[in-house]
Amino acid sequence: MKPYKNKINRIRTFALSLIFIGFIIMYIGIFFRNHQVIMLIFMLLGVVAIIASTAVYAWIGMLSTKAIQVECPNCGKHTKMLGRVDMCMYCREPLTLDPNLEGKEFDEDYNRKNSKS
Ligand SMILES: [Zn+2]
Repeated sequence: MKPYKNKINRIRTFALSLIFIGFIIMYIGIFFRNHQVIMLIFMLLGVVAIIASTAVYAWIGMLSTKAIQVECPNCGKHTKMLGRVDMCMYCREPLTLDPNLEGKEFDEDYNRKNSKS
């Protein structure tokens, strides 16, 4: 298992988990149905989490239009990458757009500007 995941996939996983968290929070709220105020707070928090996940999904959509489509040299599938370095969505092969970084050990720091290592 390679340690890094494709960025778009990572954000998508985050959005999906937000939906689940939202539903779990609302589900917990049901246990407090005898205390209407507490139940209402849980329901609101759940709705907020679900709205947040919708916002994250919209953000992914925006990022996807900016992402560059490349063919993965390892598995041959078309994947989308963000930033200078990213992982293949399918096989997690490190990909880079910067020829200077080619062949080097993958480092997430390459995405941060002005990073000196
Ligand atoms: Zn691949």
